[in-house]
Amino acid sequence: MSATPMMKQYHEAKAAAGDALLLFRMGDFYELFFEDAKTAARVLGLSLTSRDKGENPVAMAGFPHHQLDSYLTKIISAGLRAAVCEQMEDPRQAKGIVKRAITRVVSRGTVTDDALLNPAESNFLLAISRNLPKFDGHCGLAWIDISTGRFEATVIPSEKLEDELARVAPVEIIVSEDSSPLPASWSEGRLTTRRPAWSFGTEAALTALTKHFGTQSLSGFGFEESDSPALSAAGAVLDYLTETQKTSLTHIAALLPHRTGTSLEIDQATRRSLEISHSLREGRREGSLLGVVDRTVTSMGARMLGDWFASPLTNVDQINARLEAVGELVAHPAVTTDVRAELKAIYDMQRLVARVTTGRATPQDLSFVARTLSSLPKVKAKLTGRKAERLSQLESRIDLCADIRGRLEAALEEDCPLTTRDGGFIRTGFHAELDEQRELMRGGKRWMAEYQTKAIEESGIPSIKIGFNKVFGYYLEVTHTHRDKVPDYFIRKQTLKNAERFITPELKEHEEKVLAAEERSQDLEYELFVELRELVASATRRLQGTADALAEIDVLSSLSELARARNYVRPEISSDPVLDIVEGRHPVLDITEPEGTFVPNDVSCEATNKGRRRKAEGGNGDSAIRNPNSAILLITGPNMAGKSTYIRQVALITLLAQVGSFVPAKRATIGVADRIFARVGASDDLARGRSTFMVEMTETARILNTATERSLVILDEIGRGTSTYDGLSLAWAVVEDLHDRIGCRTLFATHYHELTDLEETLSGLRNLNVSVQEWQGEVVFLHQIVPGAADKSYGIHVAQLAGVPREVNQRAEEILAQLEAQHDNTLTPHSELRTPQSKNGHAMQMTLFETMDHPLLDTIRGVDLNGTTPLEAFQLVKEWQEQL
Ligand code: ADP
Repeated sequence: MSATPMMKQYHEAKAAAGDALLLFRMGDFYELFFEDAKTAARVLGLSLTSRDKGENPVAMAGFPHHQLDSYLTKIISAGLRAAVCEQMEDPRQAKGIVKRAITRVVSRGTVTDDALLNPAESNFLLAISRNLPKFDGHCGLAWIDISTGRFEATVIPSEKLEDELARVAPVEIIVSEDSSPLPASWSEGRLTTRRPAWSFGTEAALTALTKHFGTQSLSGFGFEESDSPALSAAGAVLDYLTETQKTSLTHIAALLPHRTGTSLEIDQATRRSLEISHSLREGRREGSLLGVVDRTVTSMGARMLGDWFASPLTNVDQINARLEAVGELVAHPAVTTDVRAELKAIYDMQRLVARVTTGRATPQDLSFVARTLSSLPKVKAKLTGRKAERLSQLESRIDLCADIRGRLEAALEEDCPLTTRDGGFIRTGFHAELDEQRELMRGGKRWMAEYQTKAIEESGIPSIKIGFNKVFGYYLEVTHTHRDKVPDYFIRKQTLKNAERFITPELKEHEEKVLAAEERSQDLEYELFVELRELVASATRRLQGTADALAEIDVLSSLSELARARNYVRPEISSDPVLDIVEGRHPVLDITEPEGTFVPNDVSCEATNKGRRRKAEGGNGDSAIRNPNSAILLITGPNMAGKSTYIRQVALITLLAQVGSFVPAKRATIGVADRIFARVGASDDLARGRSTFMVEMTETARILNTATERSLVILDEIGRGTSTYDGLSLAWAVVEDLHDRIGCRTLFATHYHELTDLEETLSGLRNLNVSVQEWQGEVVFLHQIVPGAADKSYGIHVAQLAGVPREVNQRAEEILAQLEAQHDNTLTPHSELRTPQSKNGHAMQMTLFETMDHPLLDTIRGVDLNGTTPLEAFQLVKEWQEQL
């Protein structure tokens, strides 16, 4: 087989496809050979056969051509890529071997087919340009959603790369062949594509980009000299697309500079632990903040809402512009309902337009464009005369494209097919010649029917039928019963088991007419289709602008629908670093918990210079919850009381406000934060090979190094990953540093009761706790945040109520008494902490709020496994045994 011309053709195509699986079209099948066939058998579950059995069998696997989409889905979700090699001519007309060519290479980041995309998520392909001379410590990023044409680029300090990747969340990453590999955790679940170093060249990038956009330079888009790394990455993206798509890319109409600093910075750990767009446990959108607040009715809206949550705003005016629009929609529920009803009927125009310009649109796609356009006048009318500036801007951005709509509606049938092959989608009356040809076809068919009747009459054979097949066209079929009555002018063509087939010169003559008309009308329909497609393509910019406006209208009305349904209020946005929330609710629990069970809570704090002074220098002792005089709120209380919920809720409300959403509260003043940091439980990171403590400290270090006075910091149980006193000392020092040096709004939930003493010395810190009650022998969590430190012995009390054996509790009381005896009121981490004695005389470490845990557990948690040899581990276990 290796010698056949077909195999030669195969090998050439395979060489061009590189590491992509080559799907080689042969007749009605796509076939894979050699290693590709084996991979396909494994990954796609295809059965492996072989071609040329005998001396040199060739492994082969294949699937019918109409299953292409479903196999492409499997290939890309397995993290592989596929090169589709099509037959470029009709095999019947081919002289010699059929011409074949790779028409596209499909991977996670380059798909445009609806069937292969998640409608509610953007599908970003992102290139990273590193190590450019003169740009030390910086890298360029460019990302594109080729299914919509959105293309952005930026330059960032290298240390921000991981966070930026978490924000954009690309499905495929392009890196230069000669750059060092990315850390595995960054590219987890993403396809990494290595491209030649030259495709990142700045000069070449500039040339390719200006050629693509038809501009002299990229300054019109807002790029400057210092953006070279961004352009290098954008060039690499364009180069990759040109190579893999092999179609027009005119829907990529602009490259937008993404300026960091204009949006709320959220690092990767914070994004994960606040479960903004994906839940921690299952990594899915359901259960995340975005998942519960999303009320959009179009996929364009769902994607835009995702973007808004990925990059909330920091500019007060911009936030207010959105809030103003949401507010007006909240005030006019009927308008919102009508707009949403209209939007429900529209199609994903961003992706439709992309398919149109890349030449992959079907007749049905064009009819969907027409239907979407037909909804626009009503949407526009609903928005006319609105007061909110943002709404009137959006209204004016809706281009009705009446010219396009008129032409499409006149041309296309109501229900259009998914392929142009069989025609039948152009309306009668749209094109004179097409009507004529169709009439000829119909006339020809009528003639056939009459001819059948005539043949029956003339021959006296009642059962003569007219049929058609591809080999000899129209024929007359006579059953053997009437064989004797067949007239002389019938010419026998085929004998079947029960019947014979004949043609006649008259029949052939008309057949030619019918077939010619059919062919001509199909050609005409195809020509008209291409014309319509080009007409739509010529309006790409107008349609894209309109689609973006529709997406935003959907987002704003979704936010107003949410606000109305869940009784949210418009937050007052302040440029001062303040926070004042009255009766705030956790946006997710508020929805997922049974109605009326969530207990709202207040919060109030303020980054203030006062916060930097120690108590000795003055400050007021008032510790009511809504005393804004403090930057740091320290929350104590037993496990399950609601500490984490409370502090997360504050972060989420702030985030919602900066997205431009109303918030779940009775009243809220939100001072714009520049960054949100959330350090919450890291146990799941253990699986990633770093010890909990190491992760916790790395992230804490990052907070202390980057938080500013305008940041919002949420800390939960910090210092837990180490032995109690280490942890306590660290937590203590972290709070002091946040207080003395940064003074930013901080909520700190902790089980280190000792920290509550800090209220004595730090004027900008206040204690809060969660109230717990005992009722008929059971612990009742009231989830109510109240001023002051938690009752110290509550842990033991709770343990008792929860059914921990009496002896254990008694012993705990003893230890507590010992600890308290040693504990002087001015305890600082620097004072000597004497540990209580355990029953067998060994010194032990004890935590007050974790009576359910054995004290050794903390020590075990604190072991850095990466830095421990097996022998040391053995020694440690031995020591622990002795302590038990
Ligand atoms: P902690 O951090 O103190 O251990 P969590 O914040 O994890 O406690 O809360 C424990 C559970 O209590 C939550 O899963 C939630 O179901 C419930 N809860 C917390 N806060 C509230 C509240 N304000 N209203 C109602 N239920 C709450």
